[in-house]
Amino acid sequence: MRHTKGHTRNRRSHHALTAPRISSCPDCGASHLRHRVCETCGKYRGKQVVDVVAKIEKKNTRLKDKARKMGIDPGEAKEKEEKKEKKETPKKKTTTKK
Ligand SMILES: [Zn+2]
Repeated sequence: MRHTKGHTRNRRSHHALTAPRISSCPDCGASHLRHRVCETCGKYRGKQVVDVVAKIEKKNTRLKDKARKMGIDPGEAKEKEEKKEKKETPKKKTTTKK
């Protein structure tokens, strides 16, 4: 059945996107999504939830292993990955643990 422009537009009047709610971390001042762990310090509501230092170290060791397997100099590969990371970080979604 034919639907009018008006009906289509009325329906779409509820499809507007809203900006993500961003708040600043009380511990380190970095901005993070509401109800999500702060990615910079790993705290949520004043509690340490994610061990950020351990996570970074784990990632670095993983990248080194990967580079070794591929036969690339670990230092060189690390630099490349770091450059990539800087670009990707704003898009990344945070995972919250209760
Ligand atoms: Zn923080």
